[in-house]
Amino acid sequence: MTLTRTTCPYCGVGCGVLAEADGTIKGDPDHPANLGRLCSKGAALGETIDLAGRLLRPKVMGQDADWETALDLVASKFSKAIAEHGPDSVAFYASGQLLIEDYYVANKLMKGFIGAANIDTNSRLCMASSVAGHKRAFGTDTVPGTYEDLEQADLIVLVGSNLAWCHPVLFQRIAAAKEARPHMRIVNIDPRRTATTDLADAHLQISPDGDVALFNGLLAHLADAQKLNASYLADHVNGMDAAIDVARQTDSAQSGLSAQERNAFFDLWANTDKVVTIYSQGVNQSAGGTDKVNAILNCHLATGRIGKPGMGPFSVTGQPNAMGGREVGGLANMLANHLELANADHRQAVQDFWRSPTICTAEGLKAVDLFEACADGKIKALWVMSTNPAVSLPDADGVATAIANVPFVVTSDIMEKTDTNDLAHVLLPATGWGEKDGTVTNSERRISRQRAFLPAPALARPDWQIISDVAGRMGFANAFSYQTPADIFAEYIALDAAVSHFPRDLDLSIFADADYAALIPTQWPRNGQRFFANGQFYHPDGKARMIPVKAPARAKSRFVLNTGRNRDQWHTMTRTGKSARLGAHLAEPYVEVNPADAAAMDVSPGALVKIESIYGQTILRALITPRIAKGQLFAPMHWTRQRTSKGTINSVVAPATDPFSGQPALKSGAVSAAVYRPKWYGFLASLSQPTPQTPYVAIAKTQAGWQAELASRKIPSDWETEMRTLSGLWDGDFAIQADPSAGTVRMAVSRAGLITGLFFVSPSPVVLSRTTVVGLIGTSTPPLVALAGHNGSDQPDAGATVCACFNVGRNTLLLAAANGAHSVAALGEVTCAGTNCGSCKPELKTLLAEAALPMAAE
Ligand code: SF4
Repeated sequence: MTLTRTTCPYCGVGCGVLAEADGTIKGDPDHPANLGRLCSKGAALGETIDLAGRLLRPKVMGQDADWETALDLVASKFSKAIAEHGPDSVAFYASGQLLIEDYYVANKLMKGFIGAANIDTNSRLCMASSVAGHKRAFGTDTVPGTYEDLEQADLIVLVGSNLAWCHPVLFQRIAAAKEARPHMRIVNIDPRRTATTDLADAHLQISPDGDVALFNGLLAHLADAQKLNASYLADHVNGMDAAIDVARQTDSAQSGLSAQERNAFFDLWANTDKVVTIYSQGVNQSAGGTDKVNAILNCHLATGRIGKPGMGPFSVTGQPNAMGGREVGGLANMLANHLELANADHRQAVQDFWRSPTICTAEGLKAVDLFEACADGKIKALWVMSTNPAVSLPDADGVATAIANVPFVVTSDIMEKTDTNDLAHVLLPATGWGEKDGTVTNSERRISRQRAFLPAPALARPDWQIISDVAGRMGFANAFSYQTPADIFAEYIALDAAVSHFPRDLDLSIFADADYAALIPTQWPRNGQRFFANGQFYHPDGKARMIPVKAPARAKSRFVLNTGRNRDQWHTMTRTGKSARLGAHLAEPYVEVNPADAAAMDVSPGALVKIESIYGQTILRALITPRIAKGQLFAPMHWTRQRTSKGTINSVVAPATDPFSGQPALKSGAVSAAVYRPKWYGFLASLSQPTPQTPYVAIAKTQAGWQAELASRKIPSDWETEMRTLSGLWDGDFAIQADPSAGTVRMAVSRAGLITGLFFVSPSPVVLSRTTVVGLIGTSTPPLVALAGHNGSDQPDAGATVCACFNVGRNTLLLAAANGAHSVAALGEVTCAGTNCGSCKPELKTLLAEAALPMAAE
C-alpha cells in the first residue's frame, strides 16, 4: 500500500493526512498540526472522492465542449468586456479552497495583467475582520500564535468559536492539554451553548454582538485594577489613553451578562498571565467585526500578553487555505505577499517583478459589493472559482439574481450541479482534492503540501492551469507559462525575496531552497521564531496601536438569527454531502428555538418554522432547545437549493457588512418567525434521488440511496402518483396502507423482491425511526413488514447517528448508559463511540447528562 502524505481540504487547522487511491485515510502522525488525529470530516474523506456528480468536461451553454472552445470563449469574453468597458468591468470570485498556486496565478492575472483589483474570495466571509483588526493594531495581518500556545495557556478564552465542531482537532488538543494540566481554565463566550461549552469552566452567554461591551469592560477593569503592563505600553504601544477612555465610557452590562459573571471573568483574566483568546466567526462575521477584534487585541496589548509562549490573541481561520490566500494577496484590498495596494512603491515593485503591462491602482470590489455591482450591470464578465456564492453569501436569492444578470459567467468547479453553476454560461472542470498538487497555509502560518494520489478524472485540470490557459489566450502567455505548481511556488517565493526590503511580517525565505516535492509542513517566518517577541510591530514607529472601539447599539427585531456550521458538514455540502455516514449526524436543515419562544409560537417538537426577512424566507425543522437564548434562532448554513426547497438560510440574511473589512454580518440577522402548518408531513426513503417538488423538501444521502423529509399544504388526489413522482420510482410493485380516520398513508415500492422505496405520510410530523426505514431500502423485507417501519427482526433501532466513525446511534448509546456505561470512556469501551476521531465526545457528554435526568431520555 502506498500512502501519500497530504493535507485535509476542510478547515483551517490544516491536518496532515495519509491517503491512498482506494480511499484509505489516516491522520499523519508526523504532521505538527494534528499528530495523527483527524475529525469526523477528515476521517470520511475517502467517502467523498468518487466521481458521482463530478464535472468531468467543459460545458458551454449546457452542452459538452472541448477545452479549446471553452477557453477561447472565456478569454474572448473577458478581453471584449475589458476592451469595451474597462478592466473594472470584469471580476473573479475565488475561494479559500484554492491552493496557494491557484490563488497566486489568479491574483497575478487580475491585478497585474487585467489591471483591476476585482478579485475577492469567500475568505471575505471568513476572516476579513481579523485581517483589518490585525492591520489596525499591528500594522500587518499577523496571526502571532502557534498551536502549542493553546496547550501551554493557563486560560483559554473562546470568543464566538464553536471549536468542537468547526476546528475539532484543535479542540481535542485543548481537551487533552486540560486533562494533563487540570488547572487550565476555559471560558466560552458565545450567545449560544454549543458542543464547545461542554469543555468550558464558564459559559458567558453574551447578547448577540455584546463582545465589544465585554472586552471594553475588561480593559477598563485592567486599568482600574492596575493590571496594565506600564513598561510594555510605554515602549511598544500607542493609543492606550484613548482606548481606555472609550472603554470606561462603555457600559459592560450591554454585553448581556450579570455583574457577577463579568467580574468573575475580569478577575480571572486580570490574574492569569498565560491567556490565549481564540476567536472565530462569531467575532468576524459581524457589522462590527473589526472593532470586536481590536477590543480583544487591546486587552492583550495593554497587558503585554502577546509574543510569548502560552499567550496572545489567536484568530482561527475557517478554510483550509484562507491564510494562504491572505499571504498571496488574493483579496480585493490587498496587493501580493502582504504588500499594500495603496503604496506606489509596493505596486511598482510587484509590477517590475511580474513584468506586467499594468498594475491595479485602487481597491477592487469586496464580496458583497462585487455582487451588488453584478446586480447593477457594472460587471460584464464574472469568473467564480471553486465556491458557491448563490448559497453562501447573505441575501443569497438576491446574489443568484445578480449572477443571472451578468452577461457572461464562467465557473470552475469540481461538481456539475451547484446553485451557482446553474447560473453559468461556461463550466470548467477542475481537479479536486486528491487529484491536484499544491500548498496550503493553516491557522498557525504553517505551509503544507496537498499532494495528488488519484489521477485527474476525464478532462479535469488544476485551477492554476485553467487560469494560465485563459491568461495565455488573453495575450499574456509569456507570464503564465507555468508547467507545474512547483514553478508557481518558486515564483511566489522569489517575489517575496524581491520585495524583502519593504518592512513586512511575511518572510518566506525559509522556502528559498525548499524541495517542493518533498516539502514538509513548515511554519513561516522560521520554525520556532515568534512574532512580536521583542515588542516590535509593523507600524512605521515600530509600535502597536490600541484602537478606541465603541459598543454598537442593538437594532430591535423579533428574532436575531445566528448562522453557523454542523459538526459533520463542510460549506455547501458538495463533498461532505456525498457521505451517508456524515449525513446521518444531522440529516435535515433545522432551526434552534428556545422552548419559551416555541411555546409562544405554538411550535411543537418536529414542527416546521417559517423564517422571514425583507430579503426572503425559509422553512426549517424546529429543534427546540435551551441551548439557544430566548429571542434568538440558530440555523446551519450548509443546505442548498440542490438538497432543499426552502433550507438556504442565507436567503433571509441581510447583506450588511463591517465598514472596515467588508465582511458580512452572518450571525445577527433581523428576522421574524412563525409556525408553518402544512396539511401533511412525509418521510421518503428511496433507491433513487428524489427531486424537490413539494413546498418543503430536505434530501440526504443514505447508505443504500436517499431520504427526504417532505411537507405540503396541498393534498394530492393520488398518493401513488405523488410517491412515484417524488421518488422517481416508476417501476415496481406498489403496496399501500391508508388510515383515513388518522390521515396517515404508508406506501412501499418493491422490485424483484427488494424494497426500492418507502413513503410515510401523516398530518403531524412523521414519528418513525429514520435509521431503521432507510436501512430497509435494498433489502428483501416483505413490503407489509417494511410498512410497519421495522425490519421484522429483533434488531433494535440505533437512533440518529452520534459517532460518525463507528456509526453509533443515540439509542444504542442510551442503552449502553442505562446498562452502566456512565462516562465517555465507558461508552467508548462498550460501543466504540468517540474512540477514533473523538469529534463526538462533547455530544457523548451531553447525552450522559441527559440520560441522568429522570424521564429525560426518549
Ligand atoms: Fe480536516 Fe478535521 Fe483537521 Fe479540520 S480538524 S483539518 S476538518 S481533519
